Amino acid sequence: MSAIACSGMPGRAPERRLRSVLLQIFYSVRSERMLIEQLQYNPLFRWFVVMEMDEGVWNHAVYSKNRERSSRSLVHYTSRALESAGSKWYYLAQIMNRTRLFSLFGMLFVACTALFGRLGQNQRRSVLPAAHPIVLHAARVFDTEAGRIVTPGEVLVQGERIVEAGSSVQHPAGAETMDLGDVTLLAGLIDAHVHLFLHPGAEDLQTIEESVPQRTITATLAARDDLLAGFTSERDMGTEGAGSADTAVRNAINQGLIPGPRLRISGNAISIVGGHEGAINYNPEQHIFSNAAYANGAAELVTVIRQQFKEGSDFIKIYETGRDSFRDGRFSTPFQYSEAELRTAVDEAARVGKRVAVHATGEPGTLYAARAGVMREKQIPAVPTFAIAEYFADHAASPVAGARQHEQLDYHAGQFRRQLAAGVPMAVGSDVGPFPHGTQARELVLMVKYGMTPVAALQADQLNGAKLLGWEGQIGALKAGYFADIIAVPGDPIKDISVITQVSFVMKGGVVYRK
Ligand SMILES: [Zn+2]
Repeated sequence: MSAIACSGMPGRAPERRLRSVLLQIFYSVRSERMLIEQLQYNPLFRWFVVMEMDEGVWNHAVYSKNRERSSRSLVHYTSRALESAGSKWYYLAQIMNRTRLFSLFGMLFVACTALFGRLGQNQRRSVLPAAHPIVLHAARVFDTEAGRIVTPGEVLVQGERIVEAGSSVQHPAGAETMDLGDVTLLAGLIDAHVHLFLHPGAEDLQTIEESVPQRTITATLAARDDLLAGFTSERDMGTEGAGSADTAVRNAINQGLIPGPRLRISGNAISIVGGHEGAINYNPEQHIFSNAAYANGAAELVTVIRQQFKEGSDFIKIYETGRDSFRDGRFSTPFQYSEAELRTAVDEAARVGKRVAVHATGEPGTLYAARAGVMREKQIPAVPTFAIAEYFADHAASPVAGARQHEQLDYHAGQFRRQLAAGVPMAVGSDVGPFPHGTQARELVLMVKYGMTPVAALQADQLNGAKLLGWEGQIGALKAGYFADIIAVPGDPIKDISVITQVSFVMKGGVVYRK
């Protein structure tokens, strides 16, 4: 619906619109979580969320405030609310599911006098941090840089930033205290390798069978799932054939129109014809498009890079190796671009202050990438992406294929241990998309399984992740001046890293998305 259509005209049309939206929610909501989603997604109801935050409570309060049972329907209350003009607040609803399998209670506040005037303003920014300070209190807090747990833990948030974090913080006048109980507070997780535009199932067929608008909707849902799983920042390593559609997703998140992580995006990855992403297994007469943008040689790299930056990419993703093969315990992968070609790409990105990330799984391509100055850092973090390898091995087409993929995962884990022993810095990237979004905290569990300590895995995620995404000093720790990207997990992640897969609280930029 268009929120602008309601702006500044308190008449019958917006009332009808409000009623029809309430009706839709009444018929579609099956759980409390769905209600929250509806509140967050529906342009009209996002406004309620903003109102609730102005009042100092989050949208959970919207339905928890009223636990009184009633057999009357949402429609009844909606009508009443709309009829009783004059008061500032309208009491709207308790939502009862007609199937009686589930029931849930909703209480929505509507300030109709303000509604039609404010809707237009708020439709560009659906959720805002609270105006007042918030103190998060928990049993523990993880100090990322020191690599230790502090007890108890408190974080003072004002607007979108952290003011103070530690065992105890000042409680300014007017501050709202959220006691989260027996949990550990951590900086929001960072996934340095995601594909928002992919879902489980054949990757190349998604490009062929699904329209870009359809895939963009998929991407917005994936962004929400990742955020609710605790990933407050992500680097999207290629839309896999959806071009620069990720620009729209990133911008909508930044404008507060949809929930999602802070994003660094790359548009399509870049590959050579007939290379890692060359759409090579199809009838050539069908001219099947690649998942990647083609660039053969230095001149074409420059052309494609300029086009991608024009369309909104934050960085460039290049396939340097592939396709991989693993036979008789030996791994091999051809390189795609020479060191000189990669250097041209890095220089072109650097010309406008941007960077290049490469997909590089083996030699000599990895060496070429390192020498060409990819990421322009002395200490280039490796991103092992175990979670996707485990998922593919566990979901292989046949037992034989599964066994071979598990063997390859073991080989990968052995290489990882050698890299750790050699002091190669790591960052956390799951390659999520081909496996379900919101489940990728498994990557940290696997990095610990294959040789890292939980502290080292969390530091790799948060400190190196912040560097890789170009937000060093802004994210990846609970420190004064940093973005208030804060999550909570039950238990102690240093004793048991698996709790990282059970995120129970998510705040991003001072806005609570999960509680
Ligand atoms: Zn990937």
